[in-house]
Amino acid sequence: MKIGVLALQGAVREHIRHIEESGHEGVYIKKIEQLEEIDGLIIPGGESTTLRRLMDLYGFKEAFQQSDLPMFGTCAGLIVLAKDIVGEEGYLQKLDITVERNSFGRQVDSFEADLNIKGIQQSVEGVFIRAPHIQSVEPAVEVLGEIDGKIIAVRQDQYLGVSFHPELTDDYSIINYFIHNVVAPSKK
Ligand code: GLN
Repeated sequence: MKIGVLALQGAVREHIRHIEESGHEGVYIKKIEQLEEIDGLIIPGGESTTLRRLMDLYGFKEAFQQSDLPMFGTCAGLIVLAKDIVGEEGYLQKLDITVERNSFGRQVDSFEADLNIKGIQQSVEGVFIRAPHIQSVEPAVEVLGEIDGKIIAVRQDQYLGVSFHPELTDDYSIINYFIHNVVAPSKK
């Protein structure tokens, strides 16, 4: 499978490593023309305001709105996929959720946790860095995981989003979930 990582800002290389460690091909996506060559796309974590600005600049907002490519957003990537953002306007609006940014404290409060994610048998290691949480979901959205009563993983059709950074660990279960349970079925 060919999986692209939006390479404008943020933790790009780490996702490419995860894709390759899972036995698939990782592609750095810098231009909208490249979307045609991939089976799925990861929008990485970083800073969502900067990410949105760069996506506007390079035409990705429109290209993504018109595309039905499977997408996986982590942290800031989850924020850009959301329909609503508390106090701001939603951006790509692929996931019918409301997210709240920086809802686990400030940078110093970053933490690691072992998570129970629906559809994955073993516990999943997640790194939370100024992470958002999902405040509410519409009925079409499946909640895949929570921590301390806060939703941190969701799926809606070919869109997957998590609050944390799976790519900063050596736990490949989430990337495998995206490739096998989200990207592969959408190819049929
Ligand atoms: N706090 C960042 C934002 O709101 C997200 C942080 C991250 O992606 N690690 O955009």
